[in-house]
Amino acid sequence: MTDVPTLPETHSGIPVYLLDKARATKAAVYQLKDNAGADTNIPRRRAVPALPVGVTTEAFKTAMDDLRGQLGSEHVEVVDQALKDGWYMEHPNTHDMMTILDDEEFVASAVVYPGSTEDVQAVVRWANKHLIPIFPISMGRNLGYGGAAPRVRGSVVVDLGRRMRKILDISADDFTCLVEPGVSFYALHDEIQARGLGDELWVDVPDLGGGSVIGNTVDRGVGYTPYGDHWATHSGLEVVLPTGEVVRTGMGALPGNNTWQAFPYGFGPFSDGIFSQSNFGIVTKMGITLMPNPGGHESFLYTFQKEEDLAQLIEIIRPLRIRNILENVAQLRHVTQAVAVRGYPRSKYYEPVDGLVPEDIIHEAAATFPAGDHTWAYYGTAYGPPEARAPKLAAIDAAFRKIPGCQKVDTSTFPADEYFWSRDKIASGTPDLHELRWCQWVPNGSHIAFSPVSPIRGADASTLYELARKRHAEHGIDFFPAFCVGLREMHLIVEIVFDRTSASKKAAALACLRDMVDDAAALGYGEYRTHLVLMDQVAGTYSWNGNSLMKMHETLKDALDPNGILAPGRCGIWPAQYRGRGWEMTRESGEKSEGASVGGRSEK
Ligand code: ADP
Repeated sequence: MTDVPTLPETHSGIPVYLLDKARATKAAVYQLKDNAGADTNIPRRRAVPALPVGVTTEAFKTAMDDLRGQLGSEHVEVVDQALKDGWYMEHPNTHDMMTILDDEEFVASAVVYPGSTEDVQAVVRWANKHLIPIFPISMGRNLGYGGAAPRVRGSVVVDLGRRMRKILDISADDFTCLVEPGVSFYALHDEIQARGLGDELWVDVPDLGGGSVIGNTVDRGVGYTPYGDHWATHSGLEVVLPTGEVVRTGMGALPGNNTWQAFPYGFGPFSDGIFSQSNFGIVTKMGITLMPNPGGHESFLYTFQKEEDLAQLIEIIRPLRIRNILENVAQLRHVTQAVAVRGYPRSKYYEPVDGLVPEDIIHEAAATFPAGDHTWAYYGTAYGPPEARAPKLAAIDAAFRKIPGCQKVDTSTFPADEYFWSRDKIASGTPDLHELRWCQWVPNGSHIAFSPVSPIRGADASTLYELARKRHAEHGIDFFPAFCVGLREMHLIVEIVFDRTSASKKAAALACLRDMVDDAAALGYGEYRTHLVLMDQVAGTYSWNGNSLMKMHETLKDALDPNGILAPGRCGIWPAQYRGRGWEMTRESGEKSEGASVGGRSEK
């Protein structure tokens, strides 16, 4: 087995301090693949490359020659090879490595690597000229939500990260930075350390650090320091519009201004919002704020015994979180995931490949691990020097102990590779590589999330929990719920782990997801983010007043992208050329990443 790519030899590499962990993870992933006899080179069954609907082989060839002429042949790759899923650190940019559909859906026809904003403009103008859909990615590690895959089959993936990977500024005075799309959380953290600023500046990092700061932020991902809401802490975008013009938002629009990363709004409408979870532009630079080291931190772990403790616990968490006594996006995790994150396959605990692992087996397994048996585990962190932390920790302790059976776990004796320490690192701005170990629960383990949001209320938590649990039981899927508590809302993140080589497991996972989205919407709940396959369904649930919000998005789309070339269908927003032609992916219409036709091509 080959070794793991590192920073700085590749922009998407692992930091050297995580190399041993990455090697161990890779070995475990590949071992499970071998066990299942899965082939990591997936042969192509349909014609290659996957051409966009309505584009002939000849037109595609002409377009590719034109693109090579503009960017250089070495920066254009046609995807005509077998697909390789790889693993987290060596992931493909050609398709969704964790696909829930057939392997031939969500596949790119080519990948292009721009080296500058001007190159991105050239690619966009090229797409308009040849009417070929393009799909931008920064790092392509948006796993669980589609990875690097384009929504429209045969799109050309614009892989921004490979060549546009500069950290343009780190300001230790303003606690801000300015980055290009290829800067991962790992790379930003490493650079801050390399400049000797690690004692002063913290980066807010998500569960895994390999995603790009830009990709994660525009998709409204979260991290786990008090700066956890990435979108809320960004300041300033540079965006290439679908017609090729470049804009800078906020203070960046004022020539010679020095406040771009310090004040997000500038003057006039706050246009940044339309560039997140959308297909209205390609972000080529973004500013984001950095957190001052608070002068110390202390992570803690509480366990709760009963499933029905959930509602009371959430009621206790709300005032503590809103008052900032619970200071970070904290996690309340269910025991099944706690067992799975050990990294062992479920077959270690329970042999049958179908059906749920019985609860008593999960609890028996949990009892053997350092945190002991429990149903809910709360991971939190207090910040500041010891004297600042003490009153907050005391208030939390007194509040949590109102729940009978609550235990504050003594973590001081936990071994260094215990999951708790991974949460501790992430909550204090050091990116890690631990979270996805629960993917090893099943062979060829892949994941896809159901992520509804609600206020921090016990009744909402119980409703969403029961809804998801019921559907998991119906579809025979082990249930991995975690509540991530923001400032005034919580995300329930339910990760479905499935074997992507099994058609029946994929079908069950997708059916379960579609049921949960519908059930949640019927009760008035919506998702904060979703996978490509669910985007039309989820967008459809935000339907108030005759879908007036989507109608406004369509108006914007048609104005900004008159040829409909940029990421058609992303977040359910279809350009005029695609609407009414069978492109929506829903249960009723079948799970296909292409529709019948695209309008406008003949006029060209
Ligand atoms: P990550 O960098 O975290 O691996 P991705 O590159 O997979 O994330 O991006 C996440 C999602 O955000 C993708 O679906 C992509 O369409 C969108 N996206 C990523 N980077 C950009 C960008 N620079 N401009 C516009 N959209 C982007």
